[in-house]
Amino acid sequence: LGAHNPLRALADAGWEAGSEGDGDTVHVFSLASGLLYERFLRIMMRTVLQRTKSRVKFWLLANFLSPTFRAATARLAAALGCEIELVEYAWPPWLRAQTEKQRLIWGFKVLFLDVLFPLSLKRVIYIDADQIVQGDVGELWRLDLGGAAVGMTPFCQDAPNEATMGFRFWADGYWKGHLGGRPYHISALFVVDLELFRAAGFGDMYRDTYNALTADPNSLSNLDQDLPNYLQAAAPIHSLPEAWLWCETWCSKSTKAAAKTIDLCNNPLTKEPKLDQAQRIGGARWAEIDAEMETLLAGDKSSPKEEL
Ligand code: UDP
Ligand code: CA
Repeated sequence: LGAHNPLRALADAGWEAGSEGDGDTVHVFSLASGLLYERFLRIMMRTVLQRTKSRVKFWLLANFLSPTFRAATARLAAALGCEIELVEYAWPPWLRAQTEKQRLIWGFKVLFLDVLFPLSLKRVIYIDADQIVQGDVGELWRLDLGGAAVGMTPFCQDAPNEATMGFRFWADGYWKGHLGGRPYHISALFVVDLELFRAAGFGDMYRDTYNALTADPNSLSNLDQDLPNYLQAAAPIHSLPEAWLWCETWCSKSTKAAAKTIDLCNNPLTKEPKLDQAQRIGGARWAEIDAEMETLLAGDKSSPKEEL
């Protein structure tokens, strides 16, 4: 992309990465359905804010949020010291429907990135609700994506968890051939240069490919992750440093302390429930924030007349 990289041209013209007219604010996108994931979401947001020097604005997909969560949004933003805006999007009738809730949510994660946000938003960082952030996401905000519209972290390769090597389905067979030497990335956190993504028509490419591939119900089994990885040759993914995504399932314990985010990804060996994982892996920091958020919510209930 080099010389013809539109991002570079804009940077040269004094345009600031991700600016929505508020150059210093970092914009984060996330989504949640169900009370457990809403609980995770609040904790994730708190962990971002604890470690990020810049102001942060969260864009949350409203489609699956409970009425309670929606009603408490302004109060949550005030308590956390951030901006929160809810975005809603109707699944287009021409796009193959998903009957399973989890797959529907995975679809919303990646299929509408070009149309979910106002055009003035030039960059966004997606973070899974079940994530504990330890680094300053401002680094991702300013990161040069090398001309790619999407940045994602490859599954731990430098220091993998030896116990799950056998589950790396992308390391051989169909995926190995299709990737042609490119890494298979984890989709729990990603950076999108929205301007480039929109200009290149990657939203249409994602949706068209999704529609074509899901004609076979067995394809895209990890929808939100398989789709961008599958399309890498046409829509390149910039590989983020591995410290940006640590998860116990795939990474060696030796790299946990230096991790900038921790995802509670599903473990095919143990099938440990998410909440147990959160309490065990998140430790004291997670528990403390969980209690803090619970107190905040209890405050909501004990003062029903207060504007939520
Ligand atoms: N998610 C959700 N409700 C669900 C499943 C998923 O809200 O029932 C959202 C949530 O933001 C979650 C993300 O989708 O972090 C990705 O799913 P998950 O973290 O469960 O996938 P894993 O990390 O286990 O692969
Ligand atoms: Ca996750």
